[in-house]
Amino acid sequence: MKLKWKPKKLTLVIIPDANQSVVRFRIPHLFAYIAAACLTMLLLISMITYVMHSHTLKQASELQTKLSGANQQWSATLTSKDKTIEQLQNEVIQLSQQADQMKTQVEEMKKLENDLKSIAGIDAKPAATEVASTQSGAKSEPAEKQTTDASSGIGGSPNPASQEAIMKLGEQTLASFTALHSEVKELQTSFTETKQKVADKQNLLRITPTLFPTTTKVITSTFGYRTDPFTHRPSFHSGIDFGARENDPVFATADGKVVSIGTDIFHGNNIVIEHSKGLRTWYMHLNKILVNKGDSVEKGSTIGLVGSTGRSTGPHLHYEVLKNGESTDPKPYLNTNRKDE
Ligand SMILES: [Zn+2]
Repeated sequence: MKLKWKPKKLTLVIIPDANQSVVRFRIPHLFAYIAAACLTMLLLISMITYVMHSHTLKQASELQTKLSGANQQWSATLTSKDKTIEQLQNEVIQLSQQADQMKTQVEEMKKLENDLKSIAGIDAKPAATEVASTQSGAKSEPAEKQTTDASSGIGGSPNPASQEAIMKLGEQTLASFTALHSEVKELQTSFTETKQKVADKQNLLRITPTLFPTTTKVITSTFGYRTDPFTHRPSFHSGIDFGARENDPVFATADGKVVSIGTDIFHGNNIVIEHSKGLRTWYMHLNKILVNKGDSVEKGSTIGLVGSTGRSTGPHLHYEVLKNGESTDPKPYLNTNRKDE
C-alpha cells in the first residue's frame, strides 16, 4: 500500500502480485484527514477502554478478595457466636441444675433446723414439703433407681434442646433463684429465732435444778410420808436422801447464788442456793461446806462434802427443792428432759 500526495486529492495505490495490474483510488484530501482522525479516535477510545477495563478488572479482583476475606471473617464470627450461644445455653442448664441442688439443700437445712428444735425441745414443725423441680417437664427419678444407678455413666438418644426451651428454662431458673433468695432470707430469720430459743432454753436449763446433787443416784428415802427413823412415828420427809459416802462431792444442781450457809442440830452443816422463778435448793448434813454466803455457783460445781452432821443416822445427803418457800418433791426435777412450767 502506498499513498501519493497531490494538492487536492490523495491517491491510494494498491500493488498486488507482479502479474496483476496496480489498483489506484483517488480520495479527497479532507476525507483522508477525517479517516486519520477517526482512526486516531478509535485507537484512543480502544486504549481508554482497555485501560478502564483493566482498572475495573483489578478493582473487581480486589473487591472479590476483600469480599472473600470478609466472608471468612463473618463465618469465623458466626462460628464463634454459635459457640458462645451454645456455651451460654449449657451454662443456663448448669444454673438450672444448681438451683435444683440449692433447693434440696435449703430443704435439708429446714429439716436440720427442725431436728435441732426437736433435740432442744423447742416447737418443731412438721417437715416442709418438697419444692418442685425447675427442669420443665422433668420428673424426679424414683429413689430406688437413684440409689441403684450409682455409677457416673450417662447416655440416651441425642435430642437437641430448642432455643425456646432453653429460654424458658432460663426464665424458670431466674424465678427459682428469686424464690430461693426469699426462702434463704426466711431461713435466716428462722435460724435467728431458733438460736434465741435454744439460748433461752439453755438458760432455763442452767437455772433449773435438773442435776443429781451427788455422784450416786441411790435414793435411801423419798419425798413424802414415812416412819421417822429416830422416833419411829409417822412423819413427813420434805426432801430426798441420797445414800452417798462420807466426803463424796455435793454438786449445785443449777446455776444460782448461795443465800445461806449454817449449822444446827437438825440440818447439820447446810447450804441454801437460790436459783430463779422462786426456786431454792437445800443441801443438808454436810461434812464440809466449800462455799460462802453470796457466792455465785454454777450448775455442777462442788459446794460441799457429804457428811452425817445434825439429825442423821449416817453419811447421806438430804436434798430439798423449795418452790416459793414450800418444800416440793425434788424427783420430778431430776430429769433434763422435763418441761419446766
Ligand atoms: Zn432426809
